[in-house]
Amino acid sequence: MSFQGHTIEAPSARTATAAEDARKHLFNNLTLADYRRSMAGGIERVADRIARTERPFSGISPQRLAPEISGIDLDHPLNDPAAALDELEEVYLRDAVYFHHPRYLAHLNCPVVIPALLAEAVLTAVNSSLDTWDQSAGGTLIERRLVDWTAGRIGFGVDADGIFTSGGSQSNLQALLLAREEALARAAAGTVPPPARHELLPRLRVIASEASHFSVKKSAKMLGLDMDAVIVVPTDRSRRMRPAALAAELERCRRQGLLVMAVVATAGTTDFGSIDPLPAIAELCERDGNWLHVDAAYGCGLLVSPTRRQLLDGVERAHSVTVDYHKSFFQPVSSSALVVSDGALLRHATYYADYLNPARTVEQRIPNQVDKSLQTTRRFDALKLWLTLRVMGADAVGALFDEVVDRAAAAHDLLVADPRFEVVTRSQLSTVVFRYLPQADRDDTTADAANLYAREALAASGEAVVAGTKVDGKHYLKFTLLNPETGLADIVQVLDLLAGHAERHLAERSSAGHGRSTDRSPS
Ligand SMILES: *Cc1c(COP(=O)(O)O)cnc(C)c1O
Repeated sequence: MSFQGHTIEAPSARTATAAEDARKHLFNNLTLADYRRSMAGGIERVADRIARTERPFSGISPQRLAPEISGIDLDHPLNDPAAALDELEEVYLRDAVYFHHPRYLAHLNCPVVIPALLAEAVLTAVNSSLDTWDQSAGGTLIERRLVDWTAGRIGFGVDADGIFTSGGSQSNLQALLLAREEALARAAAGTVPPPARHELLPRLRVIASEASHFSVKKSAKMLGLDMDAVIVVPTDRSRRMRPAALAAELERCRRQGLLVMAVVATAGTTDFGSIDPLPAIAELCERDGNWLHVDAAYGCGLLVSPTRRQLLDGVERAHSVTVDYHKSFFQPVSSSALVVSDGALLRHATYYADYLNPARTVEQRIPNQVDKSLQTTRRFDALKLWLTLRVMGADAVGALFDEVVDRAAAAHDLLVADPRFEVVTRSQLSTVVFRYLPQADRDDTTADAANLYAREALAASGEAVVAGTKVDGKHYLKFTLLNPETGLADIVQVLDLLAGHAERHLAERSSAGHGRSTDRSPS
């Protein structure tokens, strides 16, 4: 074929067959046999891997794993799900970090419940997008019911609303966005003519405790606030915000003409599981009408706890609350929400697009979640919580969370009684922050090195995974207990392993002449 002197290839029989052939991979009524086979095969692989997982981690290094993954030719498909799963076994499943394992004790990753996994399979297949009614229908209403349910557990009134998000960081960002807009509106309303936005922005401040999550500072940066916009107030010995220090900062801001756009209280700090004194903080916020945001990314599990709900008393006085179901409701990533006491506050995230949610859909009372979200296309993550509540119920989730909180208390007592270790504070939730204390030479450099080494050696052995953190400049170890299957015997075993690694490290150090104790001449 020729067109203006150029040769044009007719659509060859080859490309036509290729497209036809590729269509067998589409999920639809014609391919259900393949869908069933493929999914069942995938489930078998995972089940098989879980059955054979003896350690939470293989201990592989990124240097060893990277070539396996870069060596795969992505332009040459295997054309067979079973072969692709065989390959996946080598590059992922064999060496993944397994949160269901009782000796995974590191970060805020929970084992997940089966009803949520079932929901995950359903929601990806149907693939609803929760931005608009016309892409989800019932999904939109189910998400709304769950937001209302959560708001009810928080103790908010009928005006409450919210939105599912990708995680606590996004929830915190959105909360602070809403708070910023409210603060700017409030400041502008008080003055004629209203000051320009760019004049007000540098005066905005957020107050949070020194144990608050880093996403607060990160959000402030994304929201265009000054680098020093987040005022960090000290915590008490239990790592809870000191209300007196908050009061002093509020007073200082007032004197200096700074605009406090939000006070962030943390209900469950990431390291210490400490819950800021919510009633006292709410009291201070209410005095000047300040926005109170409660970051309950971790502590939200208490909303369903049969015995500890009172630890969250005061949360109902917040303007906004972050809840991470993927932290303490045993939900797979992602499952999270931002809940606000007054749904009208969400309007600061509302924009209209002719193709998606024209303003007339509001008049027609068609529910559009995109009006409340920072995202547009959005997963139906809410279905996981829905099936969890419908199959096992909230009390069962709360009972699981209670169990890990009890276990952390027991682990804390074990550590207090163990002279090899030092503990920072008793957690209100399920973390334990501690460190190994060298018996001979207790200076901080030696202790830091021993704890850093012990954590890495333990991870490399794959026997257990624990976290590390810094407290007052010193290196500590951290257990985050979220697995009810983790028994006290597991904890005893991990402590022995940690102490063993630390002792070996100290012995090597001193025999190599690095230890301070060998440098020091006996007096
Ligand atoms: C984990 C955590 C976050 C962040 O949540 P992601 O879901 O990881 O984005 C925020 N705040 C606290 C207190 C957390 O523990």
